[in-house]
Amino acid sequence: MAVQLQERTSPALEKLDFSDKQLTHWPSKDLPFNLTKLCLNSNSLIQVPDEIAKLSHLKEFDISNNLIQKISESFGSLEFLTIFTAKNNKIVELPENLSKLRKLKSLNLAGNLLQKIPIQVCDLARLESLHFGGNLINEIPPEIQHIERLQYLYLGGNQIEKVPVEVGQLRNLLSLNLSSNRITVLPRELDQLKSLESLLLHHNLLHFLPKNIINLENLLELSLRHNPLVHKFKLKVEKQVPSLVELSCYIIKKLHIPYETIIPKYLTNYLDGSKECDNPNCDGVYFETKVKKLQFVDFCGRYRVPLLEYLCNYCEYPSTLDGFSSSGSEDDEPTKASLKKIIMENL
Ligand SMILES: [Zn+2]
Repeated sequence: MAVQLQERTSPALEKLDFSDKQLTHWPSKDLPFNLTKLCLNSNSLIQVPDEIAKLSHLKEFDISNNLIQKISESFGSLEFLTIFTAKNNKIVELPENLSKLRKLKSLNLAGNLLQKIPIQVCDLARLESLHFGGNLINEIPPEIQHIERLQYLYLGGNQIEKVPVEVGQLRNLLSLNLSSNRITVLPRELDQLKSLESLLLHHNLLHFLPKNIINLENLLELSLRHNPLVHKFKLKVEKQVPSLVELSCYIIKKLHIPYETIIPKYLTNYLDGSKECDNPNCDGVYFETKVKKLQFVDFCGRYRVPLLEYLCNYCEYPSTLDGFSSSGSEDDEPTKASLKKIIMENL
């Protein structure tokens, strides 16, 4: 009872800073239960123990630059936690019940030993900033799309090869850092990131960018240095032979013939899966068989960036595909000159 009284009347302690105190053990006795901010930066702690649950008022917790390997499951009981920073530790996994941290807005686990983005992170619906830079992560889970409020996603310095299309669902994203990975291709769905201001792609294996990237009208910064980009790319346009099904479906779409009620469901699904040709002068569609073409586009009137476009099989596309000359089509120039900074030092 006395404890409850104290809990109601004591003002919450603003912050306790035990940075750089050479701590090797959790400082249990020194931590008042009503603490709201705790900093244990730059010590030699190896775990976040069960006792963390006693700090039920904690809102901000920084345990960066320690030797943390394990975070207790009790961590998930910190229901008021909004900022958790554990940079530069030795963390290989996160507690299963991390998803209970419903108020968490910022999670920074840069410089750890994580081999994947723990799936429970994708349940943190209030998360606005997620920092997993400098880990050993080799893939981005599609479930990341569930973090709808995410504004800052930092995945630089990992081993990611593929970016799932679901990243395009993060409509509130302002900054996406995928630098220093092994990415060869970006999904065209990235053009759905309408709020994006900064896209950092330097030090990857990109040979071209999806053409739709010029639709990112709020983009202010695009970093592309140290990618193969213009150095090695294929200029060959290869036409494929479409199947009879594809050919028939192309005609149905092209002539706008109603089809929902007269054909089997699997064909309806196939028809619904058509994608519009990137050529603004063509109203055709494609299904599986598409023509890939590189188009060089000026950014800021200074840099020519190779963008990949998908054309339908029936397109009248320019026969000259000289990568270093303009296509001459003004439609392909970015009309919204909002890009302020582009970093392509190796061009
Ligand atoms: Zn076309």
